[in-house]
Amino acid sequence: MDLSLFFVGTGGSVPSARRGLPSLLLSRGGERLLFDCGEGTQRQLLRSIGLADVGCVLITHFHADHWLGLPGMLKSFALRERTQPLTVYGPEGLHELMGAMRLVYGRRLPYELALTELEPWEEIERDGYKIATVPVNHGARAAHAYALLEQDRPGTFDPEEAQRLGVTPGPAFGALQRGETVAGVRPEQVMGPAREGRRIVISGDTAPTQTLAVAAHAADVLVHEATFAEEEAERARETLHSTARQAAELAREAEVRMLAITHVSARYAGSELREQARAVFANTEAPRDFDTIEVPYPERGPARLVRWSERRERAQAAAAEARGDGEQGGDGAGVPPVESIATP
Ligand SMILES: [Zn+2]
Repeated sequence: MDLSLFFVGTGGSVPSARRGLPSLLLSRGGERLLFDCGEGTQRQLLRSIGLADVGCVLITHFHADHWLGLPGMLKSFALRERTQPLTVYGPEGLHELMGAMRLVYGRRLPYELALTELEPWEEIERDGYKIATVPVNHGARAAHAYALLEQDRPGTFDPEEAQRLGVTPGPAFGALQRGETVAGVRPEQVMGPAREGRRIVISGDTAPTQTLAVAAHAADVLVHEATFAEEEAERARETLHSTARQAAELAREAEVRMLAITHVSARYAGSELREQARAVFANTEAPRDFDTIEVPYPERGPARLVRWSERRERAQAAAAEARGDGEQGGDGAGVPPVESIATP
C-alpha cells in the first residue's frame, strides 16, 4: 500500500513568496489525511494536486498559522456539494474554535462534520493503522504531535516450504496466508516473522521535547519543525520552537530513518537549515512546498524526497505516453492531475 507525505505548505507563522503556511497531506492507499490547514491551504492544493478528497483533518494546535485555512476549506467542500463525511481532530479547545468558525462556514453543510477533541496520548484506531497524539511543548494550551503507526504485517509466505509439506498451490496457499491451518500445516510453518508497519511522526510546533524523541523511536519519517537556525537558538527557546540542529539531535536520539524539517521561518531559504541539521543527522531533507516524501515498506527501500519538478515531469511523461505521441507535454494544457500516477 502506498504511503506518501505531500508538503502543502512548509512555512511557519507568516507566509512568504516561496512558502505557504503549515499543511501536510498524508496519503495512504485511497485515504487522505490533512495535518494542519494554514491560511491558503486550499489554494496551495489547487495549484498543485487539486483539492483532495480529505477524509479527516488533524490540527496540532490553535495558533492561527495552523488552522486559518480550515473554515474556507469547509465552505468550499460545501459549495462542491461534498457528501463524504469529514472529521476534524484537535486538542482540547477544538469545539470552542469550531463554534466561532461556524459564522464563516455556515450552519448547514451538505456533509456530516464530526469534531473530536483528543487527549494527550489518545489513540484513534483506523483501518490498518492508528493515530496517537503525543503531547509537545508549545505553550500553555495543549499542543499535539501526531504519530501514524501501521499495524504489523504478516510475514513472507514461503511457497516452496508449503509444497514440501504437501500443500497444493492454489486456494490453500491463500488460506495459509490468511492464517488458516491447511491439511495439518499451520501458518507459522510457512510464514516468516511478522513485519513491522511504517511509522510517521509529525511534530507540529514545539520546543525539543523528550516525549517526542520516545514516540518517534525508529520512525520511518519524522517531520519536525525547524523554525530557526542555530544563530537564533535563544529566540527558539523563548518562542518554544526548535532550531534545525535541535530537530536533528532529536532525530538522532530517536534513531529515525529520515528527518524532514518544516515550519521554516520566512527569513531562511531552507538550505542553510538543512545543512545545519545534516551536520548532526545526515538523512535530513528540507522539503519545499509541493514536494513529496514517498515512504515504501522498508524491504522496498528507504523513504525518498521527490521534488515537485520531478513529479511534474513524471506526470507529463506519463500523459504523453498515454497519448501515444512520446512528447514531453508542451501542448499548453498544463499539468495533468498527478495524484493517480505519482505514487506507484
Ligand atoms: Zn506555527
